[in-house]
Amino acid sequence: MIDLHIHSNHSDGYYTVKEILKMAEEENINTISFCDHNVLGAYEELKDMDIKKYYNGKIITGIEFDFVYDKRDFHILGYNFDVEKLKNSKFIDQRTKEDLMKEEEKNLEFFKEVCKTMGIKLSSDLKITKPSERANDIIKSDMQKHKENDDILDKILGKDRKNSFWLGQVTNPNSPFYIDFTKGLPTAVEIANEIHKAGGIVVLPHVFEYKSIDNIYFLNEMHKLNILDGIECIHSKHNKEQANFLINFCKQNNLIMSGGSDFHTDKRQTLGHTELGEILDKFCLKK
Ligand SMILES: [Zn+2]
Ligand SMILES: [Zn+2]
Repeated sequence: MIDLHIHSNHSDGYYTVKEILKMAEEENINTISFCDHNVLGAYEELKDMDIKKYYNGKIITGIEFDFVYDKRDFHILGYNFDVEKLKNSKFIDQRTKEDLMKEEEKNLEFFKEVCKTMGIKLSSDLKITKPSERANDIIKSDMQKHKENDDILDKILGKDRKNSFWLGQVTNPNSPFYIDFTKGLPTAVEIANEIHKAGGIVVLPHVFEYKSIDNIYFLNEMHKLNILDGIECIHSKHNKEQANFLINFCKQNNLIMSGGSDFHTDKRQTLGHTELGEILDKFCLKK
């Protein structure tokens, strides 16, 4: 079992690097990758750590970058790069923890206003208490605490509440929750060049997680750019049909297959697993 898509508290994950290593060891996951958003903090931390004390599997370097396409914020993964080479890239997020918290507080206020306008009930004590907290996560989880919001949440998060609030609403220009995070974001080509320059490979994650886009058109457009080495076929938001579509796409186009849970917290994902079961070794960046 592997998990090549894990977020730590260096970005918006709940757990520390050490906690995740211990969990991966307990769950017998033989290969993992921390893929924090636009930062390499997990790998800086691992440099000074006696890793074997916590985890005996293999760690593949990883990162999840934001890029702009068609005025929207999308994600792209880099793997197997040289951390020392990538860490000086201009696309690594250099904001301090204080900067981040201030921005998230601002976003939280905006979401509260939108909820008020839409008649969505929220608890009155919502605030950002640590740098790994994201306003969108706080709002998403609080909205679901109030029964009165059920009808409207059916539309926003789907009846099973599995739609991504971030990708379906916050980064979606057609949503009232939209915030334009694309200012200054690089393109997919710029990011891919940076990953390749650092000796890494470029993998397109969670193609089917984006809402209100033509996902297959998007996949083809990305493929046409000739920057992709692989595709994340297995992901917590992909069903069997979608995973099979992507596996076939990889086979047809000679691309590497990848798989990860996109673990942020155990309330949302299970390390090494998706709904399709455990993530098999054949998705460990293999063709
Ligand atoms: Zn992502
Ligand atoms: Zn992710």
